[in-house]
Amino acid sequence: MSQQPIEHFAESRSETASASPLNDSTDKPALRVALKTYGCRSNYADTVDLQAALVEQGAVPCGLDSEVDVVVINTCTVTDEADREALRLVRKIRKKSPDTRVILTGCMAEIRTEELQDNDAIEHVIGPGRKAELVEAITGVAPHTPAAEEADSPQSSEPALVTLGSSDGHRRVKSALPDRRSISLQGTISQEIQGPGSSIGDVRTRARYHLRVQEGCENSCTFCIIPFSRGRLSSREVSDVLNDIEFLTGQGYREIVLTGTHLGGYGEDSSSSLHALLERIVAAEPRARFRLSSIDPNDLRAETVDLIAKSDIFCEHLHICVQAFSDRILKRMNRRYRMNEVQELLAYVHQRIPGVCIGSDLITGFPGEHRQEVDQGIETFLRLPISYLHVFPYSERAGTAATRLGDEVPVPERKRRAARWRAVAERKRDQFFEERIGSTLECIVERADSQFFFGTTREYVSVKIDREAVRRAGRDVPPLGGLLQAQAIAFDPSDRKLLCQ
Ligand code: SF4
Repeated sequence: MSQQPIEHFAESRSETASASPLNDSTDKPALRVALKTYGCRSNYADTVDLQAALVEQGAVPCGLDSEVDVVVINTCTVTDEADREALRLVRKIRKKSPDTRVILTGCMAEIRTEELQDNDAIEHVIGPGRKAELVEAITGVAPHTPAAEEADSPQSSEPALVTLGSSDGHRRVKSALPDRRSISLQGTISQEIQGPGSSIGDVRTRARYHLRVQEGCENSCTFCIIPFSRGRLSSREVSDVLNDIEFLTGQGYREIVLTGTHLGGYGEDSSSSLHALLERIVAAEPRARFRLSSIDPNDLRAETVDLIAKSDIFCEHLHICVQAFSDRILKRMNRRYRMNEVQELLAYVHQRIPGVCIGSDLITGFPGEHRQEVDQGIETFLRLPISYLHVFPYSERAGTAATRLGDEVPVPERKRRAARWRAVAERKRDQFFEERIGSTLECIVERADSQFFFGTTREYVSVKIDREAVRRAGRDVPPLGGLLQAQAIAFDPSDRKLLCQ
Protein backbone atom coordinates (compact mmCIF):
# COMPACT_ATOMS: atom_id res chain seq x y z
CA MET A 1 0.00 0.00 0.00
CA SER A 2 1.19 3.49 -0.58
CA GLN A 3 1.14 6.74 1.31
CA GLN A 4 -2.06 7.56 -0.48
CA PRO A 5 -4.47 9.86 1.21
CA ILE A 6 -6.05 9.84 -2.19
CA GLU A 7 -9.20 11.72 -2.91
CA HIS A 8 -11.93 11.58 -0.38
CA PHE A 9 -14.44 9.31 -1.92
CA ALA A 10 -17.61 11.31 -2.33
CA GLU A 11 -19.84 8.99 -0.43
CA SER A 12 -23.00 9.79 -2.10
CA ARG A 13 -25.18 11.84 -4.22
CA SER A 14 -28.34 12.08 -2.27
CA GLU A 15 -30.46 12.54 -5.32
CA THR A 16 -33.38 13.51 -3.22
CA ALA A 17 -33.32 14.58 0.41
CA SER A 18 -35.91 11.90 0.90
CA ALA A 19 -37.86 12.05 4.16
CA SER A 20 -36.63 9.39 6.45
CA PRO A 21 -38.69 6.28 5.77
CA LEU A 22 -40.11 4.63 8.79
CA ASN A 23 -38.05 1.78 10.19
CA ASP A 24 -40.36 -1.17 9.38
CA SER A 25 -39.74 -2.91 12.69
CA THR A 26 -40.15 0.12 14.96
CA ASP A 27 -42.35 2.67 13.10
CA LYS A 28 -39.77 5.22 14.21
CA PRO A 29 -38.21 7.32 11.45
CA ALA A 30 -35.28 5.30 10.14
CA LEU A 31 -31.90 6.37 11.42
CA ARG A 32 -30.10 8.46 8.81
CA VAL A 33 -26.37 7.79 8.82
CA ALA A 34 -23.79 9.70 6.77
CA LEU A 35 -20.47 7.98 6.05
CA LYS A 36 -17.35 9.89 5.19
CA THR A 37 -14.38 7.86 3.96
CA TYR A 38 -10.77 8.96 3.85
CA GLY A 39 -7.82 7.04 2.51
CA CYS A 40 -7.39 3.89 0.50
CA ARG A 41 -9.49 1.36 -1.35
CA SER A 42 -9.48 -0.89 1.74
CA ASN A 43 -11.26 1.85 3.68
CA TYR A 44 -13.68 2.33 0.80
CA ALA A 45 -14.44 -1.41 0.73
CA ASP A 46 -15.14 -1.26 4.49
CA THR A 47 -17.53 1.65 3.97
CA VAL A 48 -19.58 -0.18 1.33
CA ASP A 49 -19.70 -3.18 3.65
CA LEU A 50 -20.89 -1.04 6.55
CA GLN A 51 -23.52 0.69 4.41
CA ALA A 52 -25.04 -2.69 3.54
CA ALA A 53 -25.00 -3.78 7.19
CA LEU A 54 -26.78 -0.57 8.20
CA VAL A 55 -29.50 -1.13 5.60
CA GLU A 56 -29.95 -4.64 6.99
CA GLN A 57 -30.63 -2.90 10.33
CA GLY A 58 -33.20 -0.57 8.77
CA ALA A 59 -30.97 2.52 8.83
CA VAL A 60 -30.55 4.79 5.80
CA PRO A 61 -27.00 5.54 4.66
CA CYS A 62 -26.92 8.98 3.10
CA GLY A 63 -24.66 11.85 2.14
CA LEU A 64 -22.85 14.24 4.40
CA ASP A 65 -24.79 17.03 2.68
CA SER A 66 -28.16 15.92 4.05
CA GLU A 67 -29.92 16.00 7.43
CA VAL A 68 -28.52 13.08 9.45
CA ASP A 69 -28.64 11.59 12.94
CA VAL A 70 -25.18 10.09 12.91
CA VAL A 71 -21.95 10.78 11.00
CA VAL A 72 -19.46 7.92 10.79
CA ILE A 73 -15.97 8.99 9.72
CA ASN A 74 -13.87 6.17 8.30
CA THR A 75 -10.45 7.63 9.01
CA CYS A 76 -7.03 7.26 7.43
CA THR A 77 -3.86 7.72 9.46
CA VAL A 78 -1.19 7.35 6.81
CA THR A 79 0.11 10.85 7.70
CA ASP A 80 -0.36 13.29 10.58
CA GLU A 81 -2.14 15.57 8.10
CA ALA A 82 -4.72 12.81 7.42
CA ASP A 83 -5.46 12.73 11.16
CA ARG A 84 -5.79 16.52 11.30
CA GLU A 85 -8.21 16.48 8.35
CA ALA A 86 -10.58 14.01 10.02
CA LEU A 87 -10.52 15.96 13.30
CA ARG A 88 -11.26 19.19 11.43
CA LEU A 89 -14.35 17.47 10.03
CA VAL A 90 -15.43 16.40 13.53
CA ARG A 91 -15.24 20.02 14.72
CA LYS A 92 -17.07 21.26 11.61
CA ILE A 93 -19.94 18.79 12.08
CA ARG A 94 -20.27 19.55 15.76
CA LYS A 95 -20.27 23.27 15.06
CA LYS A 96 -22.87 22.96 12.29
CA SER A 97 -25.19 20.52 14.07
CA PRO A 98 -24.29 19.97 17.74
CA ASP A 99 -26.91 17.18 18.10
CA THR A 100 -25.43 15.02 15.37
CA ARG A 101 -23.69 11.98 16.82
CA VAL A 102 -20.13 11.50 15.55
CA ILE A 103 -18.48 8.06 15.43
CA LEU A 104 -14.93 7.39 14.32
CA THR A 105 -13.70 4.19 12.70
CA GLY A 106 -10.80 3.32 10.43
CA CYS A 107 -7.05 3.43 11.01
CA MET A 108 -6.76 6.59 13.14
CA ALA A 109 -9.48 5.18 15.43
CA GLU A 110 -7.32 2.09 15.87
CA ILE A 111 -4.01 3.82 16.47
CA ARG A 112 -5.26 6.69 18.71
CA THR A 113 -8.20 4.96 20.44
CA GLU A 114 -7.76 6.12 24.04
CA GLU A 115 -6.86 9.68 23.21
CA LEU A 116 -9.86 10.04 20.88
CA GLN A 117 -12.21 8.48 23.42
CA ASP A 118 -11.41 11.47 25.68
CA ASN A 119 -12.66 13.82 22.97
CA ASP A 120 -16.20 14.89 23.95
CA ALA A 121 -17.12 15.61 20.35
CA ILE A 122 -16.74 11.92 19.49
CA GLU A 123 -19.29 9.41 20.76
CA HIS A 124 -17.54 6.16 19.82
CA VAL A 125 -14.07 5.21 18.56
CA ILE A 126 -14.03 1.76 16.96
CA GLY A 127 -11.08 0.48 14.90
CA PRO A 128 -11.30 -1.26 11.51
CA GLY A 129 -12.69 -4.77 11.22
CA ARG A 130 -15.11 -4.53 14.15
CA LYS A 131 -18.25 -4.14 12.07
CA ALA A 132 -20.73 -5.67 14.54
CA GLU A 133 -19.58 -3.38 17.31
CA LEU A 134 -19.76 -0.42 14.95
CA VAL A 135 -23.26 -1.25 13.72
CA GLU A 136 -24.43 -1.66 17.31
CA ALA A 137 -22.81 1.64 18.33
CA ILE A 138 -24.57 3.39 15.42
CA THR A 139 -28.01 1.78 15.56
CA GLY A 140 -28.15 0.63 19.18
CA VAL A 141 -29.03 -2.83 17.87
CA ALA A 142 -26.53 -5.68 17.78
CA PRO A 143 -26.59 -7.08 14.23
CA HIS A 144 -27.06 -10.80 13.74
CA THR A 145 -23.55 -11.94 12.94
CA PRO A 146 -21.87 -15.27 12.38
CA ALA A 147 -20.08 -16.60 15.48
CA ALA A 148 -16.78 -15.37 14.09
CA GLU A 149 -17.80 -11.82 14.88
CA GLU A 150 -18.04 -12.42 18.56
CA ALA A 151 -14.42 -13.45 18.40
CA ASP A 152 -13.70 -10.24 16.63
CA SER A 153 -12.88 -8.20 19.67
CA PRO A 154 -9.34 -6.99 19.25
CA GLN A 155 -6.86 -9.55 20.48
CA SER A 156 -4.43 -6.95 21.63
CA SER A 157 -6.18 -3.59 21.87
CA GLU A 158 -2.94 -1.75 22.54
CA PRO A 159 -0.44 -3.36 20.17
CA ALA A 160 3.05 -3.21 21.65
CA LEU A 161 4.75 -0.50 19.64
CA VAL A 162 8.08 -1.99 18.69
CA THR A 163 10.64 -0.09 16.61
CA LEU A 164 8.64 0.81 13.54
CA GLY A 165 10.72 -0.28 10.64
CA SER A 166 14.41 -1.00 10.44
CA SER A 167 16.53 -0.22 7.43
CA ASP A 168 17.48 -3.83 6.66
CA GLY A 169 14.33 -4.94 4.87
CA HIS A 170 13.25 -6.78 7.96
CA ARG A 171 9.62 -7.65 8.31
CA ARG A 172 7.78 -6.94 11.51
CA VAL A 173 7.65 -9.26 14.44
CA LYS A 174 4.26 -10.94 13.97
CA SER A 175 3.34 -10.81 17.68
CA ALA A 176 3.82 -7.05 17.69
CA LEU A 177 0.80 -6.65 15.43
CA PRO A 178 -2.88 -6.86 16.32
CA ASP A 179 -4.74 -9.84 14.92
CA ARG A 180 -7.53 -8.59 12.68
CA ARG A 181 -9.27 -11.68 11.43
CA SER A 182 -12.12 -9.28 10.95
CA ILE A 183 -15.65 -10.15 10.06
CA SER A 184 -15.31 -8.45 6.71
CA LEU A 185 -12.94 -11.24 5.83
CA GLN A 186 -15.33 -13.97 6.76
CA GLY A 187 -18.53 -14.87 5.01
CA THR A 188 -19.69 -13.26 1.85
CA ILE A 189 -21.08 -9.98 0.61
CA SER A 190 -24.35 -8.66 2.00
CA GLN A 191 -27.39 -9.33 -0.15
CA GLU A 192 -28.11 -5.61 0.25
CA ILE A 193 -25.41 -4.97 -2.32
CA GLN A 194 -27.26 -4.58 -5.58
CA GLY A 195 -25.79 -3.88 -9.05
CA PRO A 196 -23.65 -0.92 -10.20
CA GLY A 197 -25.45 2.40 -9.78
CA SER A 198 -28.09 0.95 -7.46
CA SER A 199 -28.86 2.54 -4.13
CA ILE A 200 -27.91 1.52 -0.63
CA GLY A 201 -30.20 3.88 1.26
CA ASP A 202 -29.50 7.31 -0.28
CA VAL A 203 -26.08 6.23 -1.43
CA ARG A 204 -25.43 5.16 -5.02
CA THR A 205 -23.05 2.28 -5.60
CA ARG A 206 -20.28 2.65 -8.11
CA ALA A 207 -19.60 1.20 -11.51
CA ARG A 208 -16.94 -1.19 -10.31
CA TYR A 209 -16.76 -3.21 -7.11
CA HIS A 210 -13.74 -3.14 -4.78
CA LEU A 211 -13.56 -6.69 -3.47
CA ARG A 212 -11.37 -7.12 -0.42
CA VAL A 213 -9.47 -10.40 -0.50
CA GLN A 214 -7.04 -9.85 2.37
CA GLU A 215 -6.33 -7.70 5.36
CA GLY A 216 -3.24 -6.57 7.21
CA CYS A 217 0.45 -6.19 6.45
CA GLU A 218 3.61 -7.47 8.17
CA ASN A 219 6.08 -5.35 6.26
CA SER A 220 7.85 -2.49 7.96
CA CYS A 221 8.22 0.41 5.59
CA THR A 222 9.73 3.13 7.74
CA PHE A 223 7.12 5.75 6.76
CA CYS A 224 4.11 3.56 7.45
CA ILE A 225 2.01 2.80 10.51
CA ILE A 226 -0.72 0.86 8.73
CA PRO A 227 0.33 -2.60 9.99
CA PHE A 228 -0.54 -1.38 13.48
CA SER A 229 -4.04 -0.36 12.47
CA ARG A 230 -4.76 -3.13 10.00
CA GLY A 231 -2.88 -5.89 11.84
CA ARG A 232 -1.39 -9.16 10.73
CA LEU A 233 -1.88 -10.67 7.32
CA SER A 234 -5.16 -12.48 7.00
CA SER A 235 -6.52 -13.78 3.72
CA ARG A 236 -10.07 -14.66 2.76
CA GLU A 237 -10.85 -18.21 1.75
CA VAL A 238 -10.58 -18.69 -2.02
CA SER A 239 -14.06 -20.24 -2.02
CA ASP A 240 -15.54 -17.12 -0.33
CA VAL A 241 -13.84 -14.87 -2.88
CA LEU A 242 -15.19 -16.99 -5.75
CA ASN A 243 -18.68 -16.94 -4.21
CA ASP A 244 -18.55 -13.17 -3.96
CA ILE A 245 -17.42 -12.89 -7.57
CA GLU A 246 -20.32 -15.06 -8.71
CA PHE A 247 -22.74 -12.95 -6.64
CA LEU A 248 -21.31 -9.66 -7.98
CA THR A 249 -21.39 -10.70 -11.63
CA GLY A 250 -24.93 -11.94 -11.02
CA GLN A 251 -25.73 -8.43 -9.80
CA GLY A 252 -24.36 -6.96 -13.01
CA TYR A 253 -20.84 -5.90 -12.03
CA ARG A 254 -18.57 -6.07 -15.07
CA GLU A 255 -15.41 -4.85 -13.32
CA ILE A 256 -14.10 -6.08 -9.97
CA VAL A 257 -11.02 -4.58 -8.30
CA LEU A 258 -9.20 -7.07 -6.06
CA THR A 259 -8.02 -5.08 -3.09
CA GLY A 260 -6.42 -5.42 0.32
CA THR A 261 -4.01 -3.66 2.63
CA HIS A 262 -1.08 -5.69 1.26
CA LEU A 263 -2.59 -7.44 -1.73
CA GLY A 264 0.70 -9.08 -2.65
CA GLY A 265 0.70 -10.77 0.76
CA TYR A 266 -2.49 -12.67 -0.04
CA GLY A 267 -2.21 -16.29 1.06
CA GLU A 268 1.05 -15.95 3.03
CA ASP A 269 -0.95 -16.76 6.17
CA SER A 270 -2.72 -19.71 4.58
CA SER A 271 -0.05 -21.44 2.43
CA SER A 272 -1.75 -20.03 -0.69
CA SER A 273 -0.68 -17.05 -2.81
CA LEU A 274 -2.08 -14.23 -4.92
CA HIS A 275 -1.01 -16.22 -7.99
CA ALA A 276 -3.01 -19.25 -6.84
CA LEU A 277 -6.06 -17.07 -6.21
CA LEU A 278 -5.83 -15.51 -9.68
CA GLU A 279 -5.52 -18.97 -11.24
CA ARG A 280 -8.74 -20.04 -9.48
CA ILE A 281 -10.51 -16.91 -10.67
CA VAL A 282 -9.43 -17.56 -14.26
CA ALA A 283 -10.63 -21.17 -13.98
CA ALA A 284 -14.05 -19.95 -12.81
CA GLU A 285 -14.51 -18.01 -16.10
CA PRO A 286 -16.38 -15.10 -14.48
CA ARG A 287 -18.39 -12.63 -16.65
CA ALA A 288 -16.32 -9.65 -15.55
CA ARG A 289 -12.94 -8.02 -15.97
CA PHE A 290 -10.52 -7.72 -13.07
CA ARG A 291 -8.01 -5.16 -11.87
CA LEU A 292 -5.46 -5.50 -9.08
CA SER A 293 -5.68 -2.45 -6.82
CA SER A 294 -1.93 -2.10 -6.25
CA ILE A 295 1.03 -4.41 -5.69
CA ASP A 296 4.64 -4.03 -4.56
CA PRO A 297 7.38 -4.95 -7.07
CA ASN A 298 8.75 -7.77 -4.92
CA ASP A 299 5.29 -9.35 -4.69
CA LEU A 300 4.66 -9.57 -8.45
CA ARG A 301 6.08 -12.85 -9.81
CA ALA A 302 6.92 -13.41 -13.48
CA GLU A 303 4.46 -16.33 -13.61
CA THR A 304 1.70 -14.00 -12.42
CA VAL A 305 2.58 -11.55 -15.17
CA ASP A 306 2.35 -14.48 -17.61
CA LEU A 307 -1.06 -15.46 -16.22
CA ILE A 308 -2.34 -11.89 -16.56
CA ALA A 309 -0.94 -11.71 -20.10
CA LYS A 310 -2.61 -14.99 -21.14
CA SER A 311 -6.08 -14.34 -19.68
CA ASP A 312 -8.59 -11.83 -21.08
CA ILE A 313 -10.26 -11.28 -17.76
CA PHE A 314 -7.38 -9.17 -16.41
CA CYS A 315 -7.19 -5.52 -17.46
CA GLU A 316 -3.92 -4.41 -19.10
CA HIS A 317 -3.17 -2.24 -16.11
CA LEU A 318 -0.86 -2.78 -13.12
CA HIS A 319 -0.29 -0.30 -10.30
CA ILE A 320 3.16 -1.26 -9.02
CA CYS A 321 4.18 0.80 -5.96
CA VAL A 322 7.89 1.74 -6.34
CA GLN A 323 7.86 4.75 -3.95
CA ALA A 324 11.41 5.92 -4.84
CA PHE A 325 13.83 5.62 -7.79
CA SER A 326 17.04 5.49 -5.73
CA ASP A 327 18.44 2.42 -3.94
CA ARG A 328 19.69 4.57 -1.08
CA ILE A 329 16.20 5.96 -0.41
CA LEU A 330 14.54 2.55 -0.93
CA LYS A 331 16.86 1.25 1.79
CA ARG A 332 15.94 4.15 4.12
CA MET A 333 12.29 3.34 3.45
CA ASN A 334 12.95 -0.32 4.23
CA ARG A 335 11.37 -1.38 0.97
CA ARG A 336 12.14 -5.00 0.01
CA TYR A 337 13.56 -4.49 -3.52
CA ARG A 338 16.13 -2.42 -5.37
CA MET A 339 16.08 -0.53 -8.67
CA ASN A 340 17.67 -3.28 -10.76
CA GLU A 341 14.80 -5.62 -9.76
CA VAL A 342 12.23 -2.90 -10.52
CA GLN A 343 13.71 -2.23 -13.96
CA GLU A 344 13.78 -5.95 -14.78
CA LEU A 345 10.18 -6.47 -13.62
CA LEU A 346 8.76 -3.47 -15.48
CA ALA A 347 10.57 -4.44 -18.68
CA TYR A 348 9.10 -7.94 -18.38
CA VAL A 349 5.56 -6.64 -17.75
CA HIS A 350 5.88 -4.27 -20.71
CA GLN A 351 7.16 -7.04 -22.98
CA ARG A 352 4.61 -9.67 -21.88
CA ILE A 353 1.43 -7.55 -21.83
CA PRO A 354 0.98 -5.52 -25.06
CA GLY A 355 -0.40 -2.02 -24.46
CA VAL A 356 -0.17 -2.39 -20.70
CA CYS A 357 -0.56 0.69 -18.50
CA ILE A 358 1.90 0.62 -15.59
CA GLY A 359 1.23 3.10 -12.81
CA SER A 360 3.17 3.75 -9.66
CA ASP A 361 3.48 5.79 -6.47
CA LEU A 362 6.32 8.04 -5.42
CA ILE A 363 7.15 9.72 -2.14
CA THR A 364 9.47 12.66 -2.76
CA GLY A 365 11.31 14.75 -0.17
CA PHE A 366 11.88 11.67 2.00
CA PRO A 367 14.32 12.28 4.87
CA GLY A 368 17.83 12.25 3.47
CA GLU A 369 16.82 12.65 -0.20
CA HIS A 370 19.44 14.71 -2.04
CA ARG A 371 18.58 17.14 -4.86
CA GLN A 372 20.63 15.15 -7.39
CA GLU A 373 18.71 12.02 -6.46
CA VAL A 374 15.62 13.82 -7.73
CA ASP A 375 17.39 14.60 -11.01
CA GLN A 376 18.62 11.01 -11.38
CA GLY A 377 15.21 9.68 -10.31
CA ILE A 378 13.46 11.65 -13.02
CA GLU A 379 15.93 10.41 -15.65
CA THR A 380 15.29 6.82 -14.54
CA PHE A 381 11.51 7.36 -14.50
CA LEU A 382 11.60 8.75 -18.05
CA ARG A 383 13.41 5.60 -19.22
CA LEU A 384 11.01 3.19 -17.45
CA PRO A 385 7.72 2.01 -19.08
CA ILE A 386 5.65 3.72 -16.37
CA SER A 387 2.62 5.57 -17.78
CA TYR A 388 1.44 7.54 -14.73
CA LEU A 389 2.66 8.37 -11.26
CA HIS A 390 0.87 9.31 -8.04
CA VAL A 391 3.28 11.78 -6.41
CA PHE A 392 3.25 12.57 -2.68
CA PRO A 393 5.54 14.97 -0.88
CA TYR A 394 6.78 13.13 2.21
CA SER A 395 4.57 13.85 5.21
CA GLU A 396 5.45 12.74 8.73
CA ARG A 397 3.45 10.10 10.58
CA ALA A 398 4.10 10.20 14.31
CA GLY A 399 5.41 6.90 15.63
CA THR A 400 7.12 5.79 12.42
CA ALA A 401 10.87 5.14 12.11
CA ALA A 402 11.12 7.65 9.25
CA THR A 403 10.48 10.48 11.73
CA ARG A 404 13.68 9.49 13.53
CA LEU A 405 15.91 9.16 10.45
CA GLY A 406 16.99 12.83 10.61
CA ASP A 407 18.21 14.85 7.58
CA GLU A 408 14.72 16.18 6.94
CA VAL A 409 13.98 17.98 3.67
CA PRO A 410 12.27 21.32 4.39
CA VAL A 411 8.53 21.19 3.61
CA PRO A 412 8.62 23.92 0.90
CA GLU A 413 11.40 21.97 -0.86
CA ARG A 414 9.35 18.76 -0.65
CA LYS A 415 6.48 20.59 -2.32
CA ARG A 416 8.79 21.97 -5.03
CA ARG A 417 10.10 18.49 -5.77
CA ALA A 418 6.57 17.08 -5.88
CA ALA A 419 5.48 19.78 -8.34
CA ARG A 420 8.46 19.00 -10.56
CA TRP A 421 7.69 15.27 -10.50
CA ARG A 422 4.02 15.86 -11.23
CA ALA A 423 4.81 17.99 -14.29
CA VAL A 424 7.07 15.25 -15.69
CA ALA A 425 4.56 12.51 -14.84
CA GLU A 426 1.65 14.38 -16.42
CA ARG A 427 3.49 14.65 -19.74
CA LYS A 428 4.15 10.91 -19.71
CA ARG A 429 0.51 10.16 -18.88
CA ASP A 430 -0.74 12.39 -21.70
CA GLN A 431 1.68 10.71 -24.09
CA PHE A 432 0.33 7.27 -23.06
CA PHE A 433 -3.23 8.49 -23.67
CA GLU A 434 -2.34 9.97 -27.09
CA GLU A 435 -0.74 6.69 -28.15
CA ARG A 436 -4.20 5.10 -27.84
CA ILE A 437 -5.73 7.37 -30.51
CA GLY A 438 -7.07 5.27 -33.38
CA SER A 439 -7.46 2.12 -31.28
CA THR A 440 -10.75 0.60 -30.14
CA LEU A 441 -10.99 0.49 -26.34
CA GLU A 442 -13.24 -1.39 -23.92
CA CYS A 443 -14.67 1.21 -21.53
CA ILE A 444 -16.63 0.77 -18.31
CA VAL A 445 -19.30 3.49 -18.08
CA GLU A 446 -19.04 5.31 -14.75
CA ARG A 447 -21.36 8.28 -15.34
CA ALA A 448 -22.95 10.31 -18.09
CA ASP A 449 -24.13 13.79 -18.91
CA SER A 450 -26.21 15.00 -21.84
CA GLN A 451 -23.25 14.85 -24.23
CA PHE A 452 -20.93 12.12 -23.05
CA PHE A 453 -20.59 8.78 -21.33
CA PHE A 454 -17.59 8.98 -19.00
CA GLY A 455 -15.56 5.92 -18.16
CA THR A 456 -12.28 4.06 -17.88
CA THR A 457 -10.66 1.63 -20.28
CA ARG A 458 -8.92 -1.68 -19.51
CA GLU A 459 -5.65 0.33 -19.77
CA TYR A 460 -6.86 2.73 -17.02
CA VAL A 461 -7.36 5.56 -19.53
CA SER A 462 -10.09 8.11 -18.70
CA VAL A 463 -12.45 8.55 -21.65
CA LYS A 464 -15.50 10.53 -22.69
CA ILE A 465 -17.61 8.86 -25.36
CA ASP A 466 -19.74 10.99 -27.67
CA ARG A 467 -23.34 9.91 -26.98
CA GLU A 468 -24.59 11.24 -30.32
CA ALA A 469 -22.01 9.10 -32.17
CA VAL A 470 -23.17 6.00 -30.22
CA ARG A 471 -26.79 6.81 -31.03
CA ARG A 472 -26.03 7.47 -34.74
CA ALA A 473 -24.22 4.12 -34.95
CA GLY A 474 -27.33 2.47 -33.54
CA ARG A 475 -25.31 0.89 -30.75
CA ASP A 476 -26.92 -0.16 -27.44
CA VAL A 477 -26.54 2.37 -24.66
CA PRO A 478 -24.93 0.55 -21.75
CA PRO A 479 -26.17 0.96 -18.17
CA LEU A 480 -23.85 2.44 -15.52
CA GLY A 481 -21.20 -0.17 -14.93
CA GLY A 482 -21.74 -1.63 -18.41
CA LEU A 483 -18.96 -2.13 -20.96
CA LEU A 484 -18.83 -0.21 -24.26
CA GLN A 485 -16.36 -0.58 -27.13
CA ALA A 486 -15.33 2.84 -28.45
CA GLN A 487 -12.73 4.21 -30.82
CA ALA A 488 -10.34 6.86 -29.52
CA ILE A 489 -10.27 9.86 -31.85
CA ALA A 490 -8.52 12.66 -29.94
CA PHE A 491 -6.94 13.73 -26.64
CA ASP A 492 -8.64 16.67 -24.95
CA PRO A 493 -6.02 18.58 -22.90
CA SER A 494 -8.78 20.66 -21.24
CA ASP A 495 -9.94 17.73 -19.09
CA ARG A 496 -7.11 15.40 -20.11
CA LYS A 497 -9.50 12.70 -21.29
CA LEU A 498 -9.52 10.69 -24.50
CA LEU A 499 -12.44 11.60 -26.73
CA CYS A 500 -14.04 8.49 -28.21
CA GLN A 501 -16.94 7.57 -30.42
S1 SF4 B 1 4.14 -1.31 5.73
FE1 SF4 B 1 2.69 -2.47 4.48
S2 SF4 B 1 0.89 -1.14 4.26
FE2 SF4 B 1 2.61 0.14 4.89
S3 SF4 B 1 3.51 0.90 2.96
FE3 SF4 B 1 4.66 -0.94 3.58
S4 SF4 B 1 3.65 -2.58 2.44
FE4 SF4 B 1 2.23 -0.83 2.47
